[in-house]
Amino acid sequence: MARYTGSVCRLCRREGTKLFLKGEKCYSDKCALSKRPTPPGQHGQARQRKVSEYGMQLREKQKARRAYGLLESQFHKTYERATSMKGVTGENLLSLLERRLDNVVYRSGLGASRPQARQLVLHGHVLVNGKKVDVSSYTVDVNDVITIRAKSKEMAHFKAVREGNAARILPKWLTFNADELTATVVALPTREDIDFTLQENMIVEFYSR
Ligand code: SF4
Repeated sequence: MARYTGSVCRLCRREGTKLFLKGEKCYSDKCALSKRPTPPGQHGQARQRKVSEYGMQLREKQKARRAYGLLESQFHKTYERATSMKGVTGENLLSLLERRLDNVVYRSGLGASRPQARQLVLHGHVLVNGKKVDVSSYTVDVNDVITIRAKSKEMAHFKAVREGNAARILPKWLTFNADELTATVVALPTREDIDFTLQENMIVEFYSR
């Protein structure tokens, strides 16, 4: 299945919530969802039909999948992994999604958005505990140190990050040193750390049908 290449703002409008896919624009008044909060398409403004329980579960799953930029097969695999872990499946799922390396690069402010963070990882700019990791789905753990390859630190993007251009609120499970361009995982993320509204129990119900 091909990756979605259309307008990402359309995805936010479809899900009715900010998914933060466009970097700094998402934090400004230029955000497309702020300007046009209706679903996309010709009938977007028309009165919404009553959504079935299945429809609501599907929307929550799609919202999470789109926010983290995963294909259905990747998302389902993460869900399967969450079910095999101890604890509450929905919370395990959120924790696994947050602990993805591309998400950590984004949440720390090293990347302006999750899509950009994925590119930074795939292009080999990111080190975990001193070693290059170019797998965006890599799961970080407590005490892992995420930083930028020495050569890449000279890129204009990282110079801007060092100068504090990233308008990111740091989650409490990460610390960030802007001078060193280094993020450290100081705890495991919990459901309170998610930066958009999500009812993970509906995702569990969706896959349990
Ligand atoms: Fe577009 Fe970002 Fe606003 Fe979503 S949050 S509509 S990606 S600008």
